[in-house]
Amino acid sequence: MSMPFLTPRVVGSIVNAYIICPRKAWLMSRQIFPDEDYVYLHLGRLIQEQSYSREKKEIHLEHLRIDLVRKEGETLVIAEVKKSSRGKEAARMQLAFYLYELKTMSIEAKGELLFPEERRREEMILDEKWMKKIEETKEKIENLIQHELPPPPKYSSYCNKCAYGEFCWA
Ligand code: SF4
Repeated sequence: MSMPFLTPRVVGSIVNAYIICPRKAWLMSRQIFPDEDYVYLHLGRLIQEQSYSREKKEIHLEHLRIDLVRKEGETLVIAEVKKSSRGKEAARMQLAFYLYELKTMSIEAKGELLFPEERRREEMILDEKWMKKIEETKEKIENLIQHELPPPPKYSSYCNKCAYGEFCWA
């Protein structure tokens, strides 16, 4: 008897990958991670440390892996750190996705995109436009990752540095 197929959950790194290459997003959705070089902090733990209310401590945030979290007065600020602004659009979408997911858990936050090597910082507020964009993108990704096979490789400048390069083009 074959195992039922469970559709993988859309997570931030998959949203990021989707903007760069849908094939990459599909591969990541199957837990094929050839290169994981960034540090994740568990938001749930941080929220606990920053003394959120008892209810909010209970929230499971396993699918959100956010680089940095801090409080600015009463406002929660989440930051996504990127090496370069090359994949900026994808990074923006990833950050907006985190803000969106938090909002669905009744956690209001604002976002920050940090490019330390370029000494740049970009703020993000989740407005209506971003909400709509994330809803549409999530739907597209959910459709994509239900397919049994990934879309065929499509060459772009990202392929040169992509960890799946050998897999796609060998
Ligand atoms: S090598 Fe290119 S086609 Fe293959 S997953 Fe990476 S970006 Fe996509």
